[in-house]
Amino acid sequence: MPQVTCSFCGRNKKDVDLMISGISAHICNFCIDQAFQIIGEEAKTKKKKVGTQFNLKKPKELTSFLDQYVIGQYEAKKVLTVAVYNHYKRLMQKRKEDDVLIEKSNIIMVGDTGTGKTYLAKTLAKILEVPFCIADATVLTEAGYVGEDVESILTRLLQAADYNVEAAERGIVYIDELDKIARKSDNPSITRDVSGEGVQQALLKLLEGTVVNVPPQGGRKHPDQKMIAVNTENILFICGGAFDGVSRHIAKRLNTQPLGFNKSTDELQVDRENMLQYVTAQDLKSFGIIPELLGRLPVVTHLDPLDKKALRSILTVPKNALTKQYKKLMDMEQVDLTFTDDGLDFIVEKAIEFNLGARGLRSICEAIINDAMYELPSQDEVKTLVIDAAYAKEKFEKSKFKRVQVKVA
Ligand code: ADP
Repeated sequence: MPQVTCSFCGRNKKDVDLMISGISAHICNFCIDQAFQIIGEEAKTKKKKVGTQFNLKKPKELTSFLDQYVIGQYEAKKVLTVAVYNHYKRLMQKRKEDDVLIEKSNIIMVGDTGTGKTYLAKTLAKILEVPFCIADATVLTEAGYVGEDVESILTRLLQAADYNVEAAERGIVYIDELDKIARKSDNPSITRDVSGEGVQQALLKLLEGTVVNVPPQGGRKHPDQKMIAVNTENILFICGGAFDGVSRHIAKRLNTQPLGFNKSTDELQVDRENMLQYVTAQDLKSFGIIPELLGRLPVVTHLDPLDKKALRSILTVPKNALTKQYKKLMDMEQVDLTFTDDGLDFIVEKAIEFNLGARGLRSICEAIINDAMYELPSQDEVKTLVIDAAYAKEKFEKSKFKRVQVKVA
């Protein structure tokens, strides 16, 4: 009879405590022990990786995901997805001494309020499964003044990452209202400008990539908290702003130096309705963003104003479009809700009239449908609700929204 030996280590059956036999192989208790340990180690490293991993997709894949939520804004989507893709490729680069250094591609998005700047950044972070936070540039001040220090931005990111520093260090930060910290005058500071240029200066070091000591609880309210060191080198910063009035700077530049346009054919067809599409870093500099900051935000893109067609699509098309949400809410009351075409048109027209972008759609819908949402849960006999132009108009005219807006105007 042939001798039974372990197929892994070759030990003889008589030299081990236990030998388990399979169809055509054997394994001894020593090898089982060892294999068990290897499995344990492997599971541990896998777990570690998950916390700091990101889910990288190619620009086109990212765009088709964004398309499910964000209507239009093709240029911004293209620029953003390429920048994000390159950013994460950069993170994956195993750097050797003499390797090409891929630089960070922090981004500025210029677009009217309510056109989807925050929404784009938020949706991107969701796709990538990385920590994400929104910071408002208007509350930031230079260190030592009333307001929040720029480090507070990272506190929020840490919180979003559940204090996993490694994960936070690959996160995305959206800084809203960058335009509100523009330099007030064209002259570099003669007097101190603590809420404008001062904050821009303070942001510089955050954006370029350094180790920042972050108060985990934020603010200056807890003076003895232990700081957490966060390296911002691989954090992607996306800034947004409406930059009201930048069109003037764009127009001026286009008039004085029509570079980049096809001069030879004399086709300087500027679309005056959407001047933001021509925005460059130079215009943002004229607006009051300091060149050093622009240097650290090398990718500039714009968002298109939302026209009737876009607003209407926003109401009905995206995965979680507003009308779908209201339908769902009404479904739960066993009420069949429909919006007619003219009802939708009415909502869109009001959003345009009040110049609130897509953000206005929600409050207008609320104003129209609030009565029904109040009454219907207590009225078992009502099984359908049709929101047409007449219904929408009647409810809207009566609403607080209308009264408040009229007063303001
Ligand atoms: P802002 O450009 O001022 O940052 P937001 O991104 O906050 O605007 O947009 C406000 C809301 O309007 C979003 O939460 C989203 O529901 C809706 N919205 C804005 N733009 C779009 C868009 N292009 N597609 C779909 N929804 C949009």
